[in-house]
Amino acid sequence: MKSGNEQYLVCVLEAEGPDLEEICTRYWAVDEAGAFIETVTAIGKSFGLTAAKLGRFVKENSYAYSLDIACPRCNRPIAFRSRAEFQAEANRITKECEDCKLEMVQQKNQEKERQLRERQQAAIEECPDVTSFTTEQCIYLLALLKLAATEDMMEISELSTIQYGMFTPTKDLDHQALKSLLHSGIIYISPTSHLTSIEITEKGISYYIDSVRWRVSLQDKGCGPIYAVLEDEIRQRLSCQGPAILMELCHEISLHECLAFLDESLSEHRLGYEYGEKTVAVLRAALEQYPVAKVYNFIWRSARDAAAFYQRKQTSKAHASRTVVGSIERQCQQALANSWDVKAYKRNFRMPQSSLSRVVFNTLLGTDDAGFNILIKELFSREG
Ligand SMILES: [Zn+2]
Repeated sequence: MKSGNEQYLVCVLEAEGPDLEEICTRYWAVDEAGAFIETVTAIGKSFGLTAAKLGRFVKENSYAYSLDIACPRCNRPIAFRSRAEFQAEANRITKECEDCKLEMVQQKNQEKERQLRERQQAAIEECPDVTSFTTEQCIYLLALLKLAATEDMMEISELSTIQYGMFTPTKDLDHQALKSLLHSGIIYISPTSHLTSIEITEKGISYYIDSVRWRVSLQDKGCGPIYAVLEDEIRQRLSCQGPAILMELCHEISLHECLAFLDESLSEHRLGYEYGEKTVAVLRAALEQYPVAKVYNFIWRSARDAAAFYQRKQTSKAHASRTVVGSIERQCQQALANSWDVKAYKRNFRMPQSSLSRVVFNTLLGTDDAGFNILIKELFSREG
């Protein structure tokens, strides 16, 4: 028996059994406009099945294809397992069939692997010597390894997979540090990175900097134990040039501790904004006078006041959030002018000391998280 309907949607049985052919044929039968002739509930009723049970039965025992809907890549008809699949496909531009999709993913993955190997080759060939690293880069790398190195020290795990601890106080500084290491050829993307984190683009590949693994090119050249190499290099520079070479990095860490706390305090009140130069300038000025632990006090109060302002004035969240900058500045100036004893805050348990801060303040300067409680310039005048 052959009707016009069957030409439109061909049903293929994959099993045999009582009623099987009739159930599947009726399920897939469409009129000339492509509309299904019977409802699933009606067919189910004839066989004592619920619509859901009938759908599962058909899916397990048959598929259908239309002569009008073919894979644009291999031209084979697309197989449908359910009416929903067919209707979704009929209503949009046809995508490739499952086989082609798989083949395309495999081809893309091979291309990604090829590009990663090429980059690896280039990174190992052009590997810079540790003496050409800036002091900051040596410290970034040491902090990154301490936080995220694999047990054999050959790879650095994806930052997005690190459960405990932070590389630097903020994502911004994380990315700044990673990019500095990457652009100088000190680290490169590991070919063992998940290929789903990498996309092929016209220029080669693109990826989220947090979602790929890294390798240290020095390690591939066989530089010896990398911690020792880096620590020796930094200590040599410290003994020649004095601890002041760390000062700028200390200021940067303190600034980012405050930016992170500002973000945290605002989000506790469901507020937030994109900080810019003005916020950075105000925080830097505050950090000239007070250590991070006390600037936290100004930040926390400003966020609380912004939340109260938001509720009282019925203003926008963005407007309320932006009042914190002026408020921090005012509090800092008042405290200074009146010589107030500003209460020092403790570290927020959600924001532990970062790996970068530990390397600088604990390992290299030999203090116990002093960057949090002591003014940077005082710390260095003691050191000096
Ligand atoms: Zn195909």
